Amino acid sequence: MNSVLDLPFTALQEALEIEGLNPTHATKVFQFLHLQKSVELPPKVRAWLAEQKQFVLNEVRSTPSGDGVTQKFLLQLPDRQDVESVLMGFSGRHTACLSSQVGCAMGCVFCATGQMGFRRHLTTGEIVSQVYFINEQLRARNESPVRNLVMMGMGEPLHNFQPVIDALDILTDTRGLCIGHSHITISTVGHIPGILKLAEVPRSYHLSVSLHGVTDEERGALIPVNKRWPIADVLEACREYSAKRDQHVLIAWTLIAGVNDSDDHARRLAELLSGRDIHLNLIPLNPTDGYSEQPPSEETVARFHELIRCHGTFPVTVRQKRGIDVGAGCGQLAS
Ligand code: SF4
Repeated sequence: MNSVLDLPFTALQEALEIEGLNPTHATKVFQFLHLQKSVELPPKVRAWLAEQKQFVLNEVRSTPSGDGVTQKFLLQLPDRQDVESVLMGFSGRHTACLSSQVGCAMGCVFCATGQMGFRRHLTTGEIVSQVYFINEQLRARNESPVRNLVMMGMGEPLHNFQPVIDALDILTDTRGLCIGHSHITISTVGHIPGILKLAEVPRSYHLSVSLHGVTDEERGALIPVNKRWPIADVLEACREYSAKRDQHVLIAWTLIAGVNDSDDHARRLAELLSGRDIHLNLIPLNPTDGYSEQPPSEETVARFHELIRCHGTFPVTVRQKRGIDVGAGCGQLAS
């Protein structure tokens, strides 16, 4: 264990037991750590807790978007590396977009995090602490805490599987923040071993899988790991996930002008996905310094959407743009 903040409830009980302490105190310790609640503890448990590594994430910079709906935070980790987290205030229901790694090993060409390369995985404690930091900001404004989580910040969450799953176990625990499982979306580039492992986790998390190309050649030009996890295998893993978890998979398609936004792309995409238990999410490209391509015009996005609607057998939506002016949109996070 790196920090006591890394421990889901049962691991916390075990840690107390190993120390010869009564595991029944785990509930109060958990509430102290994860609800920042003052609790009464026996002196021995208090002494043990005082010896454990705890930390809070400090704000380096906070950048609100022009419309005030989105706020991006640059947060400092205990080893002084930084990550970004985003607070989105969709219709009064706050959503936090969390990072799972410093940088990312997947190297998607249009993504600012991918352009940084991989530095390290975040610990469970570092993932949950992003929510606690954001909730502190909301409390100071007399606003309700975060209700929805998206693992779409810096990093590929399924490449850091166990710390992410442990963090979500802590955040959804009824003794803690009690965020609903179905209020959580995990986004992946198409990390097949991670998708199959996640299918075995008995939680109703939403899974979002990036596609972006209808042929391996097109997808591979945007997502280099397509070489390892090609389209047919990714879609088969999605099918297995849907079947095991009994829920549809979200497919993300970043629309890039002149790259994958043509009528022909729309028709081929509709054909590829028809008959599958999926929901397609169209995301006009969010610009980054390291990638020169641009998002399509609004008319092209609308036409692409309409063609999919006419030719596909599945639901399709266009993701609302939030926080683009402050680099807080999908694919724009970096530190
Ligand atoms: S899009 Fe996601 S998986 Fe791809 S490089 Fe960026 S953070 Fe990593």
